Amino acid sequence: MSRIHTIIEPFRIKSVEPIRMSTAEERERALAASGYNLFALHSQDVMIDLLTDSGTGAMSAEQWASLQRGDESYAGSPSFYRFESAVRALFPFKHVIPTHQGRAAEKILFSVIGGPGKVFPNNTHFDTTRANIEHTGAIAKDLVIAEGRVPSLEHPFKGNMDLEALDATIREHGKENVPVVFVTVTNNSGGGQPVSLENLRGVRAVCDRHGLPLFLDGCRFAENAWLVREREAACAHLSVREIVLEMARLCDGMTMSAKKDGLANIGGWLAVNDDELARKCRNVLILTEGFPTYGGLAGRDLEAIAQGLAEVVDHDYLRYRVRSTAYLGDALRAAGVPIVVPTGGHAVYIDARGMLPHIPPLEYPGQSLAVALYREGGVRGCEIGTVMFGRQPDGAERPAAMDLVRLAIPRRTYTQSHVDYVTEVAQHVAHIKKGLRGYRIVAEPPQLRHFTARFEPL
Ligand SMILES: *Cc1c(COP(=O)(O)O)cnc(C)c1O
Repeated sequence: MSRIHTIIEPFRIKSVEPIRMSTAEERERALAASGYNLFALHSQDVMIDLLTDSGTGAMSAEQWASLQRGDESYAGSPSFYRFESAVRALFPFKHVIPTHQGRAAEKILFSVIGGPGKVFPNNTHFDTTRANIEHTGAIAKDLVIAEGRVPSLEHPFKGNMDLEALDATIREHGKENVPVVFVTVTNNSGGGQPVSLENLRGVRAVCDRHGLPLFLDGCRFAENAWLVREREAACAHLSVREIVLEMARLCDGMTMSAKKDGLANIGGWLAVNDDELARKCRNVLILTEGFPTYGGLAGRDLEAIAQGLAEVVDHDYLRYRVRSTAYLGDALRAAGVPIVVPTGGHAVYIDARGMLPHIPPLEYPGQSLAVALYREGGVRGCEIGTVMFGRQPDGAERPAAMDLVRLAIPRRTYTQSHVDYVTEVAQHVAHIKKGLRGYRIVAEPPQLRHFTARFEPL
């Protein structure tokens, strides 16, 4: 066996979903009807859907079985207690508050601790995190290390926080105006890049110096822990579970989307140690999500998450997960498509600004590339760049730090031949890239414009 190196999918398929094949002409019509916004497509018009890894994964046989066990009692359901103990087995925070997804946890937390004059540092805020902070009038600060902003630069932990910038930000705004420091693992908007345990300890030390709490945005905690195990020499002997527990020990609370490393199709939670904060958050929860033992979820969803948390820290699963993502990244690079290196846990990010230098950032090279991947091959990715982050709270528009197209890999869903097909489509688009044009926005909402904006080709 020692000469056999292929890392196979550690599962076989029990139930299949057909993919509807489409032609370039059909896809061109679908694009025009959707205002060139890939979020507005009908998913049946997509062949390989890499829009997001959020809630799009396949559940295991055990998860499907657990749905039957779901107890739909309004209050005190055993499904809640199974959920709570599965969360606390990895993140032993005192209070675990279920929510229907990650942004609901954010909305509750920031409506309690945010507000005008407040500042929230993070390595890189995810779009919903930033929007929920800014919605309260507070400021969201991205303080990732400089290496994390250079797509072509190799660094094992490009998600790390810049500790000096963090310290300077707290001093500049005054610690009384920084209710909490956040660290996002892995750093989704910054390329799915991991944060080292050493860096998290460093953030903890800065927080301790100023007497501030530290929270995790833990959406991809297991992928982060696996990359720590692989890339941080001091942690190579630890299990993923041990690394996760150490991450939790360094923090005072977390927000979580169970649609990522919960291996579920819906769900999330807010967890905190502070009793008073938990009391205030539960009061908002009851207004917006539901009673504290279900928080906007059905009992069966709580069961699926509990089972998912047991499966996601499995080393065979994580080895396959991270390797299969790197497989796509390696193939794209070999095909001459520039990507953010090294590949992170859940996605490959194409450097659209680097690939399409003839399209200026304010003409949205990421949008142009994402549309081309769909038109040419029915592959749906997601612009993460100036469309997503270019509109400032003061109404001005500025280029984002990077213009990327994220190809997010749903968990346990596509096979190697699907991924080979995606590589071929990207290679073809690279071949015709000189003919690609920019876009202009003809309609946009006041917040999170990428979801509903309409575009016109230039
Ligand atoms: C997905 C995500 C969120 C928001 O979670 P939802 O379940 O989509 O509301 C927050 N932070 C990060 C890093 C995410 O990836």
